[in-house]
This record gives sequence, structure tokens and C-alpha cells, in this order.
Amino acid sequence: MIISDIQRFCMHDGPGVRTTVFFKGCPLRCKWCHNPETQSYQKELLFYKEKCIGCGICKACDKETCIVCGACAKNCPTGAREVAGRECTARELYDQIQKDVAFYGKKGGVTFSGGECMTQIEPLAEVLKMCKEKGIHTVVDTAGYVPFGNFEKVMPYTDLFLYDIKLFNPEKHQKYTGVSNKLILENLKKLFSVGVKIWVRIPIIPSVNDNIDEMRKIKEFLDECGTPEKIELLPYHPMGESKSQALGKTPHLFEIPDSEKMKSLKEIFE
Ligand code: SF4
Ligand code: SF4
Repeated sequence: MIISDIQRFCMHDGPGVRTTVFFKGCPLRCKWCHNPETQSYQKELLFYKEKCIGCGICKACDKETCIVCGACAKNCPTGAREVAGRECTARELYDQIQKDVAFYGKKGGVTFSGGECMTQIEPLAEVLKMCKEKGIHTVVDTAGYVPFGNFEKVMPYTDLFLYDIKLFNPEKHQKYTGVSNKLILENLKKLFSVGVKIWVRIPIIPSVNDNIDEMRKIKEFLDECGTPEKIELLPYHPMGESKSQALGKTPHLFEIPDSEKMKSLKEIFE
């Protein structure tokens, strides 16, 4: 499998204190993506121009000849260069996760995120199974754009799914994420019908979905198909901006939703 990062002591990726593993590769291209370095399934070199002091120690190659060997990143004294993406086996990943068991307490555990962890389904199922056998609480964070069979593979070893709904409007979904939301909504409906634990998460993106009509439609859909244990509305944050630039991409910027707006949208679900 290929992952981009393992973050420890995370408080926002499920209950309690968690270790979050970011898988690399995603079929969606959300314009507000927080982690653009997880979109591609390949290793990538990030270059943070503003950190570069021009010392030349890195002896970096030019863009055309770069094979993402990472030598320049290792040599750079300022952290201006960074490689996103490392290969590992399910066992190697499990060995990293189990080092944190002492910090999980009663509620915490591991969260597999991304990118879309559910597209690397075989190694994901393998590492989930190892965690479950050790009694570690497991969360899968997904955008749901995978065959339902993938959910069936991980269900026995997953305590909770964090399931994103980005937009109910199909045309807007296609426009802003690059894919249709049909499969995503169908999968969520099926997941509810098998009775697994779900938290629905909705990123709030001004000018895209921060309106009462969108939220009402999502709520009506949820009322029809099942009751999530929790619904979280997550305000947009331009976290991905510097990473997009470091990847040589042009970031799409949105406003940050104010607290009044967030409050009024949350009320729809209360
Ligand atoms: S990652 Fe390797 S190949 Fe790419 S610029 Fe750096 S040293 Fe050159
Ligand atoms: S080693 Fe780092 S700081 Fe120095 S020139 Fe290379 S990228 Fe810039």
C-alpha cells in the first residue's frame, strides 16, 4: 500500500485520542481538498518556495528529470522539500499503530483516512483485521465512491465509519468533486440498512453548499435512509493552499464560513 502520513494524538477523526493514517490516492478531486498530496497514487515531491534559502545543498534536479528519489528532501536543512508517499505493508503499518495503544484510553484508537483509504481495500482490510484482533477501536473515514463490496470487506473489522456527504445536488457534485454522487448516496443507504455505526460529515464550503436548501436536502435524504450516530458540519479551512502550491498546482480558495452561518446550518440537523 502507499500512505502519505501517520499523525498521532488526533482529536477530530472519531472518538477519543487517535492515530490517523492518511492513505495516498483518491478518485475525487474536491476543489477545497485539505490534503492535495493524497490525491495521486504516486509519490510526489513538494517544494515550499517560501522556506527555501537558496543554499543549493539539495542539488535538486529539475522538474522534468525528477524521479522523486527524495535525496534533495533529505539534504535540505530548512524543510523546503518533502516527499509525500511511502510504500509499506499492512504488517509494517500495524507495527506503527500498535506503538500508540497506551494513548488511546477507553474511547480512542486508529482512523484510516486519506485520500480514499477504501480504494486500497486488500491491505486496508488486512491492517484493520490486525487492529481488531488486538482490541484497537477502528474507524474508516471515506467519501464512499467505491464498490459496495469494499464496505463488505472491511465491515467486520470496523467499529465506525466517518462518511462524507459533500453535496446533494448531482450537477454541483460533479462540478466540484469531479465525480457523480449517485454511488456515494446509494452506498450510504446500504450501509445504514446493514446497521453499522456511522458519523456523517459535511464540509461547509461557502458559495458551494453553505445554503439552507442543500442542507435540507441532505437532511431529508438522511431521514429517509437511517440515523447516523452523529452529524458533523466541518467549516472550510484553507489548509490545503500551501500544499497545493508546493505541488505546483493552483489552489482554489473559498471564504471561511463565519460562526453565525455554521450555527444556522447546524440548526437544520438539530
Ligand atoms: S527527489 Fe530526487 S530526483 Fe527529484 S529533485 Fe530531488 S534529488 Fe532530484
Ligand atoms: S537545500 Fe533546501 S533551502 Fe537549500 S536550496 Fe535546496 S530546497 Fe532550498
